Amino acid sequence: MTETKGYFGQFGGSFVPPALQQVLTRLDEEFERLKDDAAFKAELAYYYKEYIGRQSPLYFAENLTKQAGGAKIYLKREDLNHTGSHKINNVLGQILLAKHMGAKRVIAETGAGQHGVATATACAMFGMECVVYMGLEDTKRQALNVFRMELLGAKVVAVDKGQGRLKDAVDEAFADLVENYETTFYLLGSAVGPHPFPTIVKHFQSVISEESREQILQKEGKLPAAVVACIGGGSNAIGSFANYITDEGVRLIGVEPHEAPTMRDGVPAELHGFKCYVLLDEEGNPQPTYSIAAGLDYPGVGPEHSYLKHTGRAEYVNVTAEQALAAFQLLSKSEGIIPALESAHAVSYAMELAATLPADESIIVTVSGRGDKDVEQVFELLKKA
Ligand SMILES: *Cc1c(COP(=O)(O)O)cnc(C)c1O
Repeated sequence: MTETKGYFGQFGGSFVPPALQQVLTRLDEEFERLKDDAAFKAELAYYYKEYIGRQSPLYFAENLTKQAGGAKIYLKREDLNHTGSHKINNVLGQILLAKHMGAKRVIAETGAGQHGVATATACAMFGMECVVYMGLEDTKRQALNVFRMELLGAKVVAVDKGQGRLKDAVDEAFADLVENYETTFYLLGSAVGPHPFPTIVKHFQSVISEESREQILQKEGKLPAAVVACIGGGSNAIGSFANYITDEGVRLIGVEPHEAPTMRDGVPAELHGFKCYVLLDEEGNPQPTYSIAAGLDYPGVGPEHSYLKHTGRAEYVNVTAEQALAAFQLLSKSEGIIPALESAHAVSYAMELAATLPADESIIVTVSGRGDKDVEQVFELLKKA
């Protein structure tokens, strides 16, 4: 599918200064060398099982299915992973790369703090120095996550350049990497950024569909009618889709928030060193977005998703904040599972879709994370409503 290395059709690539390109080329070579190495794979499998608690269940949501009325709804329970989301799958994979490349220091960017906490967690376990770049505005709004990272031994650097948001944190992290590449590994959190990051992140998140494919075949004796996942940068979704991309009968559906509809309204453009669909304002700058789910609040999307949309292999749909809030409450009440607000977007669409399909079909929806982090926000939102 990849025409040129690092490209998915016209999307992807690596638009960075030469000094950074050298570092990324070395990362690409090391990743290619290690990813199929038997000892590396055994080590990764060990930590997935013993530290994260994989594999994650593929749970038949019987009550939800009855309410939707139609296809069986299965939940891929990434919320049950250690640290409470899919992010740790990628973090553990990359930290093992870092270790094998001889890095002593790991840096990361974080928006709301979820990826920063996952990275700080793995660094604590591996005894690595950890520096997390976070926009100044975000450190104020997410003070508890800053404390969590510090508790785990990480240093959080508040970035007050630009608008003090995620983009500025990413810029600072790349600047650090260029300066300190001999000792430092940049652990990027989603399936975005210049090559080879989208490829690396997909590789480590593909464990989601590697497991779910086996699990659904065992439970249903056939593949699902559809796989549904929410999309921020696109890492849990690409991991959920990966092992079904060549199964043409399986619909792949990415769910975006109505408030950040990159796939609906975006145009091909360059963002953060790679090409993808981007939401632009009238002057051609990336549009500020606002979703109740911080993890989905991104004006771009991974290059492979951009390509899957372009070719029509995957479908991308929108769910409003109200619909996500309703699904958040419904899953809590009917199955005893409080999902992350991000995941609630996917659950909402999966319920709608299930109602249109026959009862002998199944749908897999990825619950990317647990909702503990969102309970206070939902409390405030419902109080106002
Ligand atoms: C970060 C996050 C997301 C969005 O990121 P992707 O890279 O699109 O998966 C979704 N759900 C949860 C729980 C998250 O923490």
